Amino acid sequence: MTQIPDIDVEVKKAFENEAKRAGLSQTPIKLTRDSMITIKDQDLKIHEAIEHEKKRQAEGIELIPSENYVSEPILEAMGSILTNKYSEGYPGKRYYGGQENIDIIENLAIERAKKLFGAEHANVQPYSGSPANTAIYFALLKFGDTVMGLKLAHGGHITHGLPISFSGTAYNFVQYGVEKETGRLNMKEVREMAIKHKPKMIIAGFTAYPRDIDWKAFKEIADAVGALTMADISHTAGLIAAGELESPVPYFDVVMTTTHKTLRGPRGAIILCKEKFAKAIDRAVFPGLQGGPHDHIIAAKAIAFDEASKPAFKEYAAQVKKNAHHLAEEMKKRGFELVSGGTDTHLILADLSNKGVRGEQAQRTLDQVGITLNKNTVPYDTGSPMDPSGIRLGTPAITTRGMKEPEMELIAEWIDRIISNIDDQEIHAQVKKEVKEMCLKFPVPGIES
Ligand SMILES: *Cc1c(COP(=O)(O)O)cnc(C)c1O
Repeated sequence: MTQIPDIDVEVKKAFENEAKRAGLSQTPIKLTRDSMITIKDQDLKIHEAIEHEKKRQAEGIELIPSENYVSEPILEAMGSILTNKYSEGYPGKRYYGGQENIDIIENLAIERAKKLFGAEHANVQPYSGSPANTAIYFALLKFGDTVMGLKLAHGGHITHGLPISFSGTAYNFVQYGVEKETGRLNMKEVREMAIKHKPKMIIAGFTAYPRDIDWKAFKEIADAVGALTMADISHTAGLIAAGELESPVPYFDVVMTTTHKTLRGPRGAIILCKEKFAKAIDRAVFPGLQGGPHDHIIAAKAIAFDEASKPAFKEYAAQVKKNAHHLAEEMKKRGFELVSGGTDTHLILADLSNKGVRGEQAQRTLDQVGITLNKNTVPYDTGSPMDPSGIRLGTPAITTRGMKEPEMELIAEWIDRIISNIDDQEIHAQVKKEVKEMCLKFPVPGIES
């Protein structure tokens, strides 16, 4: 296993100090001990499930666009003794003692996040994307305020005003959609809606929208009606950090991203904002919404931000986009109808109506041959979220494994063979074998092959 020391001397030093403080006394301190008691020694049931999951990840093609494989140093940080610590508050202003190492780690995470995205302020404590969005609303809105977000069925997120969610219950969400003919946002409609409803905040940034977003246009509309701007770049943050997509950070008041999707860090989130909102955001995260931050995850975030600033990550992000484009073209050649006709990002949304297969059946059957993606509504879907007409797929995970254009062609072919022969067990068995053979040539970080 590559260890944190190989790549990150500063985080390593903070780790060692923390281990020393906690009374772990090997010198020099190794973060993993050879004699360590393993899950296998102690809990066979959990061990077996993890081993099976390793096999599933190694032998299958992961096309869920919100998933990725983190590096070994990130896995190591998440499994470290930092999980033992409580550190409510912020660096230099904590409610518990023993923070000298935690402060170093959190400050590194903050500085690296600000640098990576060119942000004035960063809060690295949010547990995940949904609580981070809730913290932003709590910081900048009053209950009942009007907010504009994209409809869930058109690619928005549940935290952008789904009626049964906290967001849709506590705030008055009015929701814009995409155009039926193009599958794209119509900024004229967004503007008309904003003028009509005078929202306190406009949210852009989505979960299932394959196209680039015109942040400047959103900002102009918000300015025209006096609304705050919030960007949710959970899906595209890695591509934005690498300069492969335009960034909302220069224009928007607040930007939230999860850290585990294209950004390829640990499961979690960060909030970036203009300095004038810094205090409100920090207070909303703690003590407004959360208690103690997850220090082991914050260390992993710091490592991820460092990784994302390296040339290798820029290459990775460029290839994610190339792969998505190529996979989209190969699917179109095979008669797949893509929402908006293609993709500018890592993500593809296909409407299977013309194939005579439901999204759920496609997901289930592809899963059985080792191709994982998710069923998804398409805009103006006549089906429900549990039984939608489409599938959503993306290239962040397979690109991390090193797959390129030739593999995209194979993947499109396999998907087509399954969808076109949805009940043919013989073809399914053949595809499953071919998928596994190909996958074993591309190792997953953290899984010994
Ligand atoms: C994934 C996602 C989130 C939520 O993140 P969780 O970590 O799953 O809570 C929020 N917004 C958007 C746009 C997302 O894609």
